[in-house]
Amino acid sequence: MGKKPPSVNNLALSLQNSGIPHELLVEQARSAIAAGDWENMEERMEHLQRSFIQPVINATGVLLHTNLGRASWESPESNFSSNIEFDLASGNRGSRQTGIGNLFAQLCGAESAMVVNNCSSAVLLVLSALASGKGVAISRSELVEIGGSFRVPEILELSGANLVEVGTTNKTRLVDYQKAIDAHRDVAMSLKVHQSNYKIVGFTEEATVEELTSLDLPLVVDIGSGLLDSSCPWLSSGPPKWLAGEPAAKQTLLGGADLVTFSCDKLLGGPQAGIIAGKSDLIEKCLRHPFARVLRPGSHTLLSLQELAMRYLHRDGDGIPFWKMASLGLEELRIRAERMNAGEIVSVDSIPGGGTLPTVVIPSVGLKFSGDRSSELRLGFNGGLPIIARVSDGDTYLDFRTVDPAHDEMIANALGNLD
Ligand SMILES: *Cc1c(COP(=O)(O)O)cnc(C)c1O
Repeated sequence: MGKKPPSVNNLALSLQNSGIPHELLVEQARSAIAAGDWENMEERMEHLQRSFIQPVINATGVLLHTNLGRASWESPESNFSSNIEFDLASGNRGSRQTGIGNLFAQLCGAESAMVVNNCSSAVLLVLSALASGKGVAISRSELVEIGGSFRVPEILELSGANLVEVGTTNKTRLVDYQKAIDAHRDVAMSLKVHQSNYKIVGFTEEATVEELTSLDLPLVVDIGSGLLDSSCPWLSSGPPKWLAGEPAAKQTLLGGADLVTFSCDKLLGGPQAGIIAGKSDLIEKCLRHPFARVLRPGSHTLLSLQELAMRYLHRDGDGIPFWKMASLGLEELRIRAERMNAGEIVSVDSIPGGGTLPTVVIPSVGLKFSGDRSSELRLGFNGGLPIIARVSDGDTYLDFRTVDPAHDEMIANALGNLD
């Protein structure tokens, strides 16, 4: 070293072609000079660029990749004012929940529905509005943790409700609910939580939704993943085999649940949000609770969800990227992989991901490269998007099921430049 450092301002000015705001460049220049490595600005700038949220190509084969924003869904442009809380008919104030709530009520076969920030919010709001200070009966096999920060006992405590544990880890019967409810007197509802990300196998038993309706208490079912209807009317080929056994909103309500809660960015295939659907009087209580305001989504999310709901109502599964990707045929995927003219064509397994369907794999086609090439691919090529591949047993795999075909050429260019 020994060289005299440049001024902070001159160093920042020398970087202005990057398009990064001057204020941030000054900050970078200052810390580089303080650390004595102002001659190495390229690496610093790259590090900064990569810290910004940007589109990436998901070639992992994980359809709902939590680190990549779960469901692939393009948000519609919404730069302008909207009638989110304005009634165009009367010119008076309206509710942001009415229009979108009606669409999801229609889709779930429910009396009523509302939207919050995610499924965790939905569960928190329902518990707070219906059971604060009272007991909630839940099976010991359903005191789950999903994604590390959603833990049913903790959400329950936060809502002010009291946990009334029912049955055992592997077996919980209807009579166990009855016993627990009789022993506690102040139980306000029973909650059934779908074991989304794990399975208990072997000597097991659980009370069904239909059985739980006999308890004479509001029954709330957190189905989690947001499958609307098990008959999948939006798919011309009907429900895929791997979906078997996944609870759906419509059938759960038909079975007698009073409310269901689910995520919008899992099997529903949309943006991050959560839906509560079911009986009007219970939804009304949720809408009136102060948490409804705390947990309400903004206009961009609601507009995006409205678009998603319309595609479901039009039965346009191909217009919903998650379902389109999940339904792609192997031949089509093989042709795309062959066009890359690189690597070795191999059979791979896509997975739903996002903490759903933990034992399901969907056969797919991909390319294999020996060695770990993931960091080169993450660089993107020549201004192209970062490509996120999967590394398994030291080799690199690109699964074409989760890649938008519009990005195939970008991938071909990047692969042509792997050394
Ligand atoms: C995923 C999931 C949640 C949490 O949903 P978020 O939308 O991530 O908050 C809650 N309950 C169940 C059963 C889930 O599967």
